[in-house]
Amino acid sequence: MKVLVINAGSSSLKYQLLDTDTQDVLAKGLCERIGIDGKFTYKAPGKETIDAVDTPMPTHNEAIQAVLNALIDPANGVISSMDEIDAVGHRVVHGGETFNRSVKIDDKVMAAIEECNPLAPLHNPANIIGIKACQALMPNTPMVAVFDTAFHQTMPSVAYTYALPYEYYENDKVRRYGFHGTSHKYVAQRAADMLGKPIESLKLISCHLGNGSSVTAVKNGKSVDTSMGFTPLAGVPMGTRSGDLDAGILEYLMNKHGMDIKEMLNVLNKKSGVQGVSGVSSDFRDLSKAAGEGNKRAALALDMFSYGVKKYIGAYAAAMGGVDAIIFTAGVGENDAGQRMAIASGLEFMGVKMDPDANNVRGHEAIISAIDSKVKVLLIPTNEELMIALDTAALV
Ligand code: ADP
Repeated sequence: MKVLVINAGSSSLKYQLLDTDTQDVLAKGLCERIGIDGKFTYKAPGKETIDAVDTPMPTHNEAIQAVLNALIDPANGVISSMDEIDAVGHRVVHGGETFNRSVKIDDKVMAAIEECNPLAPLHNPANIIGIKACQALMPNTPMVAVFDTAFHQTMPSVAYTYALPYEYYENDKVRRYGFHGTSHKYVAQRAADMLGKPIESLKLISCHLGNGSSVTAVKNGKSVDTSMGFTPLAGVPMGTRSGDLDAGILEYLMNKHGMDIKEMLNVLNKKSGVQGVSGVSSDFRDLSKAAGEGNKRAALALDMFSYGVKKYIGAYAAAMGGVDAIIFTAGVGENDAGQRMAIASGLEFMGVKMDPDANNVRGHEAIISAIDSKVKVLLIPTNEELMIALDTAALV
């Protein structure tokens, strides 16, 4: 089946056309600066690459049209007509408590996704615009929504409830939702495959470490706890997000510096994390370079990151009563051997023993723990698009 995967943001849109039978990526790319001017990028094996070429995109409709035009282009395309697209899978950030799995999109589903907008005001409205643009251009093609939050809906109440007055949960839906669910689900299943054991028998800790980072405890194939919370601001320190924080700091800093809550949240989301501590960069490559040149704040930021992830691993091993394997994925997890080593070292007491040579890899599936390590440590590149395409194919 040929599935078009769409990840729509407010001014950008990522796309991939996948063949779910072979799991091949037929074409992929990006529409940027939608609503501003418009830049279009397209890559397909054996075809000419289009690299950020000016393409007017006043709305998402023109962006989707540009994608379809490129896919069916007689010279450079990969399909002969739009009818070859069997289904479209849409990434949707927030499914609230309504969606615990992917769903085929109809009017009722659209209304329910819109009801989740207040929970993710920056993301869900953009996702909905992407869906509507596709529906307008492909009215007869089935569409599926795949939610970032859905995998975590199996968390027990003891893990998702905040210690706030209970009516804020009951009336206002304030609870831990968790994010990166599609990625955690994908790598957990791959881990079970790599270990040759049924996922239902495993205790896994999945570390999705990228620009945004989250750690998830996966017991018997189900998410039982995760480090992000009501929003993606919680958990480990990230590229520019603070992660967990004493809420009392907000009032103190707002009073002292005359900030309103919007300015304060901008600091917590965009100016904090390893960027804020180091004053250098949110990119781990820049931080390693700076730390290597003696920059103490860059070194501190890197140490805070590995320490933060390590603490969550310890917590989730306790929450699950043990752990069979720890998984590293996403930009930092897949590429940064130093971070993986820093996170996993010191965990020998719980049966984690790294193999420094095996850990010296990037970007492909590998067991990076020592042969005699009781807890296996795995590097698994994430593939959210494939997961979305497979869910979509299964549902249509
Ligand atoms: P996002 O959360 O935006 O999807 P990614 O998972 O793509 O992010 O991760 C991006 C981050 O991965 C970059 O900011 C950078 O810190 C890190 N990264 C990418 N390549 C490397 C590398 N070779 N070494 C260390 N870190 C890397």
